[in-house]
Amino acid sequence: MTSYVAAIDQGTTSTRCMIFSHAGEVVAVDQMEHEQIFPKAGWVEHDPEEIWRNTREVAAGALAKADLSASDVVAVGITNQRETAVVWDRSTGKPVYNAIVWQDTRTDRICAELEALGGGQDRYKDKTGLPLATYFSGPKIRWILDNVEGARERAEAGELLFGNMDTWVLWNMTGGPQGGVHVTDPTNASRTLLMDLSTLEWDESIAADMKVPLSMLPTIKSSSEEYGRVRERGALAGVPIAGILGDQQAATFGQACLSPGEAKNTYGTGNFVLLNTGTEKVMSQNGLLTTVCYKIGSNDPVYALEGSIAVTGSLVQWLRDNLGMIASAPEIEGMAAAVDDNGGCYFVPAFSGLFAPYWRSDARGAIVGLTRYVNKGHLARAVLEATAFQSREVIDAMNADSGVPLKSLKVDGGMVVNELLMQFQADILGVPVIRPVVAETTALGAAYAAGLAVGFWAGEDDIRNNWAKDKEWTPSMDDAAREKTFGLWKKAVTRTFDWVE
Ligand code: ADP
Repeated sequence: MTSYVAAIDQGTTSTRCMIFSHAGEVVAVDQMEHEQIFPKAGWVEHDPEEIWRNTREVAAGALAKADLSASDVVAVGITNQRETAVVWDRSTGKPVYNAIVWQDTRTDRICAELEALGGGQDRYKDKTGLPLATYFSGPKIRWILDNVEGARERAEAGELLFGNMDTWVLWNMTGGPQGGVHVTDPTNASRTLLMDLSTLEWDESIAADMKVPLSMLPTIKSSSEEYGRVRERGALAGVPIAGILGDQQAATFGQACLSPGEAKNTYGTGNFVLLNTGTEKVMSQNGLLTTVCYKIGSNDPVYALEGSIAVTGSLVQWLRDNLGMIASAPEIEGMAAAVDDNGGCYFVPAFSGLFAPYWRSDARGAIVGLTRYVNKGHLARAVLEATAFQSREVIDAMNADSGVPLKSLKVDGGMVVNELLMQFQADILGVPVIRPVVAETTALGAAYAAGLAVGFWAGEDDIRNNWAKDKEWTPSMDDAAREKTFGLWKKAVTRTFDWVE
């Protein structure tokens, strides 16, 4: 009997279930979008109950499309949008508030207060690898406990649980109020600002600073082991859940970046460049994060340097939804191809402030270089170029931190179908850009973590052997042109600073 592994990919814009074969090939996919809730400027929320409903539906949908049943699936892996925070009642399973999404900037005041305790933005950097920023979960939990009536008392009485989306999905899949498993993995925990990167345990002193009761935090297990089984309901009933990786770490795993020095860039809602640094924690001097890349069973954890960019693909969505300039995301390529260059126009999408390498919550978006000459083609090009320029900035920081310049870049995610963007990325980096056959590396990475735990895949060599190149773009821009346009981009970035208090 042929067996398969399933992955639940709970992303920022949608939830997917994908079924993979032993060769790492996609057998079936089902996907549902969920509502993006923007209650006010800077706030972004999701409805956790909608996400849990969608998770069950796509699991059933993917199995039905593949004409498989739960008995054909040997393990389920979970991957998820990281940092997004849910707090719920352990006896009813009801969230006390919507999920506060990673892009949400409402915690800027909480972050400023924590900075003022001493040590500034890097107060927790040695322990957690992270700067104090609205991006991470800890301050989001604090906001919910401070602002939802009665929440702090209930949390202190042990009635409330916290989870990122991995934990929310796992707890519900394993039974919810009836014995749900309250667990996370170190890749997700490393994004909360609450975990010690060396011990992989919650740090009591930081939790005390943030006024987050330890009793509401999930148990941190490895990224690849059996956490529990899907409860006797739904399509995957009885299947072991055996892998958890945050989406960017999952993509790194799925891209087979399993040795120190290997890196990938994922082009989704935002962009995330991760460089595997092996069992060594490299502390960035250049605005990058240090994070857990994966921890397989009882093996030592593997770390990564990460360049997180908040807004890339979501700028294309903004052009579609807020300006109506395009009817669908793929249309941007034709519009951009109608002109030869950006016409002098640069678009810095600092919608959530700027993440790496700047970490400026005071920044807001700017379009600069406008003249009467600029048309919608130039603007479309500037939108795509913004993704490539921001990627170049974090890769420059990575090269400076590691001392070893990247020789090529593996790419994946929803935007990598855009050939114009991929060519421009190679041009602006000056190194080849390589797309694998399976661009769904996030789900694939979670499937690998789960499949390794149950012996479906024997080891990392299986993952390396399954990886195959689809297409490579080589740089064709001369050095002078590259540095000129990149210089103008950097100047444009400075125009976004000091916009909010
Ligand atoms: P996520 O996992 O973050 O939800 P995906 O990897 O599914 O995101 O990528 C979706 C993003 O890719 C969207 O923001 C969308 O605007 C963008 N996108 C999709 N197709 C294209 C395209 N042809 N050109 C440019 N951007 C695209």
